[in-house]
Formats: sequence, C-alpha cells, structure tokens
Amino acid sequence: MTTKRCSRCRNRKPLEQFVKNNKSRDGLNHYCRPCKRKIMQEYFATKEGIAAKKRMAENLRLRRKAASKKRK
Ligand SMILES: [Zn+2]
Repeated sequence: MTTKRCSRCRNRKPLEQFVKNNKSRDGLNHYCRPCKRKIMQEYFATKEGIAAKKRMAENLRLRRKAASKKRK
C-alpha cells in the first residue's frame, strides 16, 4: 500500500488519508485529514482566519451570482 508522511503529525498514512491538492507536486496535501482539519480550525479561530472566511463566503456569493447570470 502506498503511504505518505504527514508533515504535521509525522505519521505515515495511506494516501486516502490525504486530501487532494492540485498545487502540490504529488497532487496531495502535505497534511493528513485529521491534521488538516485541526489546522483549519486553529486558523479560523484567528483574526486572519475569520477575515479569510468572510472573503471566501463573499467570493462564493459572487461566483454563484455570476454563474446564475451565465445560465440561459
Ligand atoms: Zn497528520
């Protein structure tokens, strides 16, 4: 079974324990799912995280608006 080491908990885990990430070289995130979740939780508890969340929600809203306009 192919495994990958998580950059956070340093454990080797099967590839399905990693979220896909097109930006990374192997196409998978550096962190395993539980670690990724923790990182996001910690991040969204910070000021920057809260701001980023708001931005993301706003972007999503705009994208939805644009998508509904395109539909014929
Ligand atoms: Zn991990």
